[in-house]
Amino acid sequence: MKISIIGIGSVGSAVATAVANTGLAHEIVLFDRNGVRARAAAEDLGHAAAFSYDIKITAVNTYRAIRGSEIVIIAAGANQKPGQTRTDLLHANADVISDIVPRVMANVDSKNVKLVIVTNPLDVMVMLAQKISKLPPARVIGTGTMLDSARLRTILSRQLSVSTQSINAYVLGEHGDSSMIVWSSACVGGIDLNSFCRQTKISLPQTTRNTIEHRVQNAAYEIIRGRGATWDGIAAAVADLLRCIINDERRILTVSTVAGSGASALAMSLPRIVGRGGVITTLMPRMTSTESAALRRSGKIIRKNYDSLK
Ligand code: NAD
Repeated sequence: MKISIIGIGSVGSAVATAVANTGLAHEIVLFDRNGVRARAAAEDLGHAAAFSYDIKITAVNTYRAIRGSEIVIIAAGANQKPGQTRTDLLHANADVISDIVPRVMANVDSKNVKLVIVTNPLDVMVMLAQKISKLPPARVIGTGTMLDSARLRTILSRQLSVSTQSINAYVLGEHGDSSMIVWSSACVGGIDLNSFCRQTKISLPQTTRNTIEHRVQNAAYEIIRGRGATWDGIAAAVADLLRCIINDERRILTVSTVAGSGASALAMSLPRIVGRGGVITTLMPRMTSTESAALRRSGKIIRKNYDSLK
């Protein structure tokens, strides 16, 4: 499968490495408005590929070269600087998405292509990309809170001394400061979280849950403070999403896609079944009234930011 990546900065190059390591692509095309950067990344990745899979990795300076791509990943645009929120990137990155998406669409098969959006603020960029591309919402997929959910499972895994693989707990809503954790439907090995804590004699009081929520929401800020940007986590999330799509795995991932239309259109993360055609089904977990209110509030923030672009 041919996969193109637009934007070869910290995230785009880590995504290229992670995608190459899935072994699912026979060709990866890299495009960046900074051609020198893209060419250097292609060179480096090509050398790395000699140790794993036979993949053709090329840097290109024209969108014509992405023709034949089944999946196009957009990771271009400004990233957060220390202290900046994702929403601070709104206007600059809306311009980036508005520049890239028409060029992509002019060169791909609109009946088949899937756009994977990584650029922040993620949910608004998904809405914009879907509107510009006119693709069915199921095929414009933002990584959403896949990363936030992974961060939650990692923290819980340490707290509960159990593998992340056995934890079913989701962060939903905005990939941003208003994201929320659905504690009431969190499970460990099919056992609800409260019951798991009782049986294992582990205490997880509300104060600890609040701290965990704070750590999940602030994980990116902490990483950016320490290493200037985040790239490994998101690269792994994109590779996981691609595996799910390409292999038609139909796993449940908390990705962001547009639901509704016109003034009620909204992209945010919910648990969704993902397969070869993109998003197949959207699910709604059981929630307390407080959790439902937090999710609604998060949706309103995304919509307000989207409306502020007009
Ligand atoms: P970066 O500055 O390292 O790289 C951005 C790249 O985009 C640069 O190489 C730049 O030349 C390129 N670019 C900018 N405008 C372009 C255009 N119009 N056409 C082609 N290329 C263009 O930034 P980064 O750290 O790689 O972050 C990229 C984006 O990913 C940011 O918006 C960041 O916030 C986001 N991000 C998202 C997640 C997530 O979970 N969704 C996680 C981390 C980062």
